[in-house]
Amino acid sequence: MDDLSQFRDVAMISEDTLHTSPDGAFFPFMMNGREFPVRIVRGTPRRRYLAVRVTDAGHVEVLVPRWAAARDIQGVLCSKADWILRHLQRVQQLPPVVPKHYVDGEQHFFRGRLHSLQLISCPESRAASVSIVPETDRLQIRMKDPSPCRVRKVLERWYREEAYQLIGERLKVLCASIPWLKCVPPWKLRTMHRRWGSCSHTGKLTLNTQLVKVPEFCLDFVLLHEVTHLREMNHGWRFYALLETLLPDWKPRKRELDRIGRFILEKNAKENNR
Ligand SMILES: [Zn+2]
Repeated sequence: MDDLSQFRDVAMISEDTLHTSPDGAFFPFMMNGREFPVRIVRGTPRRRYLAVRVTDAGHVEVLVPRWAAARDIQGVLCSKADWILRHLQRVQQLPPVVPKHYVDGEQHFFRGRLHSLQLISCPESRAASVSIVPETDRLQIRMKDPSPCRVRKVLERWYREEAYQLIGERLKVLCASIPWLKCVPPWKLRTMHRRWGSCSHTGKLTLNTQLVKVPEFCLDFVLLHEVTHLREMNHGWRFYALLETLLPDWKPRKRELDRIGRFILEKNAKENNR
């Protein structure tokens, strides 16, 4: 990649602007003869290393720990230039993520399968009801006034209830087979736009409500990934060695989750639509 020599000479950001700019600010960055906006994300005090990611909306982001100086950011962008360009190319080839409108016939994921919304107006009914019509791909919602904004609320509540039940069941089954785990760890649901889950220092899991939309073999991967953090907080080699003992085929599960995830994590749809 010849143009990279040019890109290495570009001063992207000065120490002063780095320290006076708000978290999440964009800075211009030259790469391969083109200018890219790079977003600097400072994150939590726990962050220890610099990391680069390319979002599905085609944004380059650098996650920066407190100690990092502008030259460190420059350094990581230079050393990962090839990788960044490859990922930017990959993003350009992805099919577009279509934002949801909550109208009749629209496709929505549930447990890894696409279902089409069937909205039935029931002027008499007080409470809305949501169900999967057996042996069809229909996700049926009966309610008084199926306007998009009400449908969205009803559907989100239903997903949450289903997620609570499904995740509770899977955690119970998975945790029962782990010899070093005495019981199911405490957990809560949260709707998140970037992460599938996290594990706190006190050992409490936070799991994304939207996991109810992915196939069960991807859900199991996320649950066991977070459970592994109960023993290994960081993503070091020990973490992966332990995950491997719990789930030897975690890699293809993760690949499928990455593929399907961009259609599910709503932020992507919003970003793409901007
Ligand atoms: Zn993790």
